[in-house]
Amino acid sequence: MNKAESERLGSYLEQLGYRATATAEEADFILLNSCVVRQSAENRIINKLNALKPLKRLRPEITLAVTGCLVNSKTDQLKESFPHVDHFFKPGDCPTGIEKTKLEQILPQHPSPATFVPVIQGCDNFCSFCIVPYRRGREKSRPVAEITDEVKELVLRGVKEVTLLGQNVDSYGNDLVDKPDLADLLHELNTIDGLARICFLTNHPKDMSTKLIDAVAHLDKVCEQICLPVQSGSNSILKAMRRGYTVEHYRQLIAEIRSKIPGVALSTDVIVGFPSETEEQFRQTLSLLSELRFDTVHVAAYSPRAGTIASREYEDNVPQDEKRRRQNKIEQLEEGIATEINARLSGKTVEVLVEGKKKDKWQGRTRSGKLVFVSDKGNHPGQLVNIRIEKTSPWSLQGKVENKQH
Ligand code: SF4
Repeated sequence: MNKAESERLGSYLEQLGYRATATAEEADFILLNSCVVRQSAENRIINKLNALKPLKRLRPEITLAVTGCLVNSKTDQLKESFPHVDHFFKPGDCPTGIEKTKLEQILPQHPSPATFVPVIQGCDNFCSFCIVPYRRGREKSRPVAEITDEVKELVLRGVKEVTLLGQNVDSYGNDLVDKPDLADLLHELNTIDGLARICFLTNHPKDMSTKLIDAVAHLDKVCEQICLPVQSGSNSILKAMRRGYTVEHYRQLIAEIRSKIPGVALSTDVIVGFPSETEEQFRQTLSLLSELRFDTVHVAAYSPRAGTIASREYEDNVPQDEKRRRQNKIEQLEEGIATEINARLSGKTVEVLVEGKKKDKWQGRTRSGKLVFVSDKGNHPGQLVNIRIEKTSPWSLQGKVENKQH
């Protein structure tokens, strides 16, 4: 979401006449988009803000603004801690100027061939560890027609793939008058000429419906990739996290997805070291991950976020070293699993949407979201290319161009 919003903030500033500079020192306007989902992210933004103090002292005419989840509804304390910041504004808002314009209504000027489209903001779930509902507020969906018009415009600007974003995309439409759901939105977007791929992030195991799984299975533009955060393999930890589902339900959901969507790539998120997580409970998570064999696992060590239910009710009592050990263990397990899953693609031909160049190689992604590098002299950005995979690793694939599609 932050990536999408940064892209739109950049376009907004361009509309006001600003141009990007290579360094902060050359800038007249510095805008930091913050994330506080974990303590490490919060530390990064605070360090960055402190590092900008000498520059602001040297050039007081610079405008320094901060947005993102560091900014809550009461900014007094932030203003006191960071008096050198000129503006704080809430995530999803615009810095100044266009009154009542929401950031999501500003289109990226030079979008990548694969770009993001926020479809629902906020979250009503209040998982006990999560700060998001406190910073991004309650769920608010954008109407289907508004999203459809935007995607059509993005296609005219060269976009081939859109990723629909929401903290919980399964809640999409609950707050709209005619209550469309994500499957309805996918049906609508699937009819847009020139659009090749549709992806979405992030689902919630408690809310994901059979109707949505069927839509992914049947709509040709909707890609075979699903991110379904499990967070823990222990039912008692899931309960303390207030996730609203059990391991058994999660397992069934994965089975349904795999049976209906052949070749689907599944990713998940896991938190280790949630308060009082025992070795046995951690082992349940490890064993669930070995059983379900995800393409990607994002693992994070629990860190208490002020104001959340977990930070009020539970002591952060798993030592830091132990959290790190559990995190490493999952990373090692997943490295082995991803190595095997990706090795199966060796010698196969996959469709890649080329997004750009990294050093001397083109890079793009398959429909299942796998990163592919290609050495080829041709000019491919924004094109769908068939690539024969020659080398695989747990993190990416490499191959040669077979032929260009369109
Ligand atoms: S569903 Fe996701 S965004 Fe919402 S409270 Fe839970 S973890 Fe946070």
